[in-house]
Amino acid sequence: MKKYFVTALGVLLLLCCGGCGGPKTEQAKNIDTAMGTVIQQSVYATENAEAAVSDISEILRRLEEDELSRRLDTAELYAINSAAGEDAGIEVSEEMSQLLDRCLDVWRESDGALDITIGGVVGLWDIDSWAGEGKDAAFMPPTDEELQAALAACGGDKLRKQERMLFLPEGMQIDLGAVGKGIALDRILAYLGKHENVTGAIFSVGGSILTYGQKPDGSCWRVGVTDPADTAANIGTLKLEGQWCVSTSGDYERYVEVDGVRYHHIIDPATGCPADSGVAGVTILSRDGFLSDALSTACFILGAERGIPLAEHYGAEALFVGKDGSIIMTDGMREYFEGSRAR
Ligand code: ADP
Ligand code: MG
Repeated sequence: MKKYFVTALGVLLLLCCGGCGGPKTEQAKNIDTAMGTVIQQSVYATENAEAAVSDISEILRRLEEDELSRRLDTAELYAINSAAGEDAGIEVSEEMSQLLDRCLDVWRESDGALDITIGGVVGLWDIDSWAGEGKDAAFMPPTDEELQAALAACGGDKLRKQERMLFLPEGMQIDLGAVGKGIALDRILAYLGKHENVTGAIFSVGGSILTYGQKPDGSCWRVGVTDPADTAANIGTLKLEGQWCVSTSGDYERYVEVDGVRYHHIIDPATGCPADSGVAGVTILSRDGFLSDALSTACFILGAERGIPLAEHYGAEALFVGKDGSIIMTDGMREYFEGSRAR
């Protein structure tokens, strides 16, 4: 069994003073891996900052092991997928039921762009085996026949749900990869809501960012927006105060290149192939982690014209970077985004 929670690079505890005579603030920082990705934490608290960091690490480890993993047989999602084709269906937890309802809601509103039933097609592309990014001469895209056969078992309309009872048709596999990091941010938020000692914090779960509260010096949180054409650089910065979730979906995050063709990890359910809407990256800003992650995937597939109304429907802000380098954003995003090329 793969152990996701492998490295703990240690917790750094700093004691500092919040201004002249202000209350003492501790800072704890940590980088480790969970949910198959890198987790970075920076927490300011009046006390027990280190405990908060280790509690949150544990929450994310359990989220993967107990709930969201498709591969670990300890996870609820594993049991759900194992029940595909069974007439009796499977009863899911209240939490999973609510999560699936939210996914299906975005599926409907996005004209099927976000489709968690797409696991079979994701499996065909073998996305999980791609090493982050890069070239793989041995990679063979699936054939059209294979794609059509896998697509036949996909679609939110084929997933039957009656309250907590779930019925997956034969061959359907649910994949929560498009929303998992956002759910992680929501779980962190739930923890912070119950721990008043935490006065400010910033987290990155594989590049999905949560900002919370305030820094001791009162300055705002600054979150860089990656330039898809040069992933070492930013096209600009989001200046944020208090609680925000920022998720980005991009064709540069996970891909293989064969003979100059880039195959990336966000699949258009209409074709079964990597989405090709002219977008290279989408960043979503929302108060809610699930929405930021779900909408970044959906908007990447839909493109700016269809994606902007979707984001606005959910009260989220969106910023699209086109393959041609153009930048299009919701009006509300302008309040937060600072960058040279903004239109
Ligand atoms: P990242 O994981 O890089 O943040 P996303 O949030 O956009 O990217 O999620 C991409 C993942 O979601 C893929 O690796 C795959 O597991 C799954 N996926 C791909 N296409 C879709 C889709 N159309 N609907 C739902 N999930 C998808
Ligand atoms: Mg996403």
